Parts: sequence; C-alpha cells; structure tokens
Amino acid sequence: MVGARNETPRRVSLLGATGSVGQSTLDLIARQPDAFDVIALTAHRDVAGLAAAARQFSPEVVAIADAACYGELSAALAGSGVRVLAGPEGVVEAAATPADWVMAAIVGAAGLAPTLAAVRQGATVALANKECLVCAGTIMTDAVAAHGATLLPVDSEHNAIFQVFDQSQPDAVERLILTASGGPFRTASLAEMAAKTPAQAVAHPNWSMGAKISVDSATMMNKGLEIIEAHHLFNMPEARIDVVVHPESVIHSMVAYVDGSVLAQMGTPDMRTPIAHTLAWPARMAAPSPRLDLVAVGQLRFEAPDPLRFPCLELARAALRDGQAATVALNAANEVAVAAFLAERIGFCDIAEVGAAVLAEVKGWNCASVDHILEIDGWARGRAEAVAAAQPARRTVTSAAD
Ligand code: NDP
Repeated sequence: MVGARNETPRRVSLLGATGSVGQSTLDLIARQPDAFDVIALTAHRDVAGLAAAARQFSPEVVAIADAACYGELSAALAGSGVRVLAGPEGVVEAAATPADWVMAAIVGAAGLAPTLAAVRQGATVALANKECLVCAGTIMTDAVAAHGATLLPVDSEHNAIFQVFDQSQPDAVERLILTASGGPFRTASLAEMAAKTPAQAVAHPNWSMGAKISVDSATMMNKGLEIIEAHHLFNMPEARIDVVVHPESVIHSMVAYVDGSVLAQMGTPDMRTPIAHTLAWPARMAAPSPRLDLVAVGQLRFEAPDPLRFPCLELARAALRDGQAATVALNAANEVAVAAFLAERIGFCDIAEVGAAVLAEVKGWNCASVDHILEIDGWARGRAEAVAAAQPARRTVTSAAD
C-alpha cells in the first residue's frame, strides 16, 4: 500500500511536470509526501512553473527543453542544490536518471526520446504521452520487453481497459470499446464546426486538459490516436477496437469477452484517478477525485460517431492499417495543424484536411527505426506546414457561406 509508514519511498520522475497531467501527478504526490522521493522534473519553457515545483519537491535534477531558458532556471534555483540541465538531451538525461516510476507526460512526438530513455532504465513508465505509441508503438513495446520495464497506461480510456482486461487469458477478449465524450462540437453541424474558434475548441465539456489534446478531442483525432495506442498496448487488431460516443464520460472504456460479458471501468472525469492507479500500482492509493453519483448522473447515453463530421477517426484507422510511416506522418501533420489552428492560421475543419493530404503521400512507405521515424516526422511537418499555408483561402469561402 503506497503511504504505508514502513515502506521505502518510491523514487519518481515526471517528464512534462508543468503540464496538466504533470500538475495532477504532483498534486497526488504532495498529498502523500512520505511515500515518494521526487528524482527528476522536466518542462519545455515554463521556467517559473518548473522552479516552483523544484522548490516544493526538491528533486535531484531538473531539465528544461528550451536551452535558452537555462540561465533563468539556474538563477531561479540558485542555492537549492538541484542540478539543472537544458536542451532536449538534458531532458533525456533527466529521464535516464535512475527512478522506480516515471510519468511520461510531455505532449507530442517530443516525448519519444525521453520516454524511451525511461523505458531503457527499466523503470515502471506511466504513459500519458500517447504520441509515443502512435509514432513508435513496436519500438516502444520491444524496448519495454528488452529492458524489463513496465508500461502502465495513464490515458483514462486505456487505464480503464487495463483495469478490466484479464491479462491471464487475452484470447478471451473479443473487442475493446473505447468511449469518447464527443467533445465540445458533438452536436454541431459541419458549417458550424468550420467557424469554431480556438477558445471554443479547447473548452471541453467534461475534462480539463492541455490545449493540444483538447483540440484533438474536438476533432476526435484524440480518439483516433487512442485506437492506435490501444492496438499497441493490448495487441489488438484495428478491426476489433470500437469507438462509442458517450457524452457523460462516466464509463471510461470497456472490454468485451467471448462469452458476451462486457466489463467497464467507471468514475468521474478526473485524471487524478487513472494517475493514482498507475502511481500506486499494483496497490491502490487514495485520490481526491469527486466520487461518482450515478443517481445524480441519471442516465448514460451512447451514440455512434459521425464519420462525416469527425473524419479524423477514419484517418487514424487508415494510418494504423497502412503502417508506422503513416501513423508517424499523421501524428506530425496533426501536431502542425493543431498549432496552426490555435494560432488562427487555419480553420477548425482544415485540421483534418492537412492530416488527410499528408497521409495520402506516405502510403506504403517503410519505417522500421527511430532514425526513420525522425526523418518521416520532419518531412511530414514540412509538408503539413505547406498544406496549412494553402488553407486560408478555402477557409474564407467556408466562412462566407455560413
Ligand atoms: P500540457 O500541454 O498541459 O503539458 C505538456 C508538458 O510537456 C508541459 O510540461 C510542457 O512544458 C512539456 N513540453 C511541451 N513541449 C515539450 C518539448 N518540446 N520538450 C519537452 N517538454 C515539452 O499537456 P497535457 O498534460 O494535457 O498532456 C500531456 C500528454 O498526456 C499528451 O500526450 C496528452 O495527449 C496526454 N494526455 C493528457 C490528458 C489530460 O487530461 N491532459 C489525458 C490523457 C492523455 P511547458 O509547460 O514548459 O510548455
């Protein structure tokens, strides 16, 4: 049991400590300070957030990915005794610092190298960064096996499946059923969606999350990436992974067995529950998430996702069927497109168009190594920028027609 007085504190590191998942993890750690020793904390550019966390949790080392922030971070931690690293290689070094448990919560493909470093030190890796599995699923699961690491899914859907998946008889599992809230535009028409602003897209009805994943929820690319993630985590073919829209976000996902049983994990939409599950695993620890009151919820609804309004779902399925080059390219194109949308350079519906255009170009490409992944990722980002730059004219026409 985590927190038991006579137990050695668990040595924990957080990659992406300043983000939404990182902060929720620190919130849980702060509630049981004797149970954990914080070893490494990392961020991208948020010097103030990283320095505040370092002052509170006294890690051995911190790393800031943007090397230009090194001086400011060093000054902020002067006299603290915390070792300061900088640059992407500094983040990898922090991830490789020996720890029992590492939270992988960097957003995007930037999380791949640090997460692999955590896996290679044989740690228990709590994986929030789904883009790692999307880009390098087989490389990641092979590395987990080769280095004796353990991968625990943090994403609420995959954590739910993990909790009800009978590992002793995987052949008895017929299907995985991922639930999706449907996001803020679940009932919007295509014309309405085309005119949506970044502020509207990040206003998720149920979950409080970082900007990128919130936009991914609005396009349902998030669910598409989760299909790819589930495929790698649970060794399940794409055709046996279903998606059902469930607006209340009470059932976080389900496993259907060959005898007709369907097991679900439920709870309120608070990431501290799945994070706590991985932080204490295989034990359980208390989390302050609001308790589920099914009577107050009243009813649970389910709908099929609309492929016309949410084309990103099928894009992700097509990429998974096509292979790793396609999933890498789609992920990179989506990151570029979401950033362009958040910067108001393209419209909401253009996000899927950018992904589709880049995906069409990589059909059948080979991608078997980390070098290949980085090459295809870089190429896809360039192509996506070019496609995005060509979008505004079309967007104006769409807006005028609304
Ligand atoms: P946030 O945007 O809130 O946080 C991202 C974190 O990554 C920050 O610490 C950020 O640092 C750091 N970061 C960003 N870019 C880089 C980079 N290039 N190099 C190193 N570090 C970087 O994201 P979330 O916490 O919402 O999501 C993190 C991951 O977890 C994503 O992959 C997401 O899909 C997944 N996830 C999130 C959920 C949620 O509820 N938020 C639920 C399930 C999965 P800085 O603050 O300095 O920018």
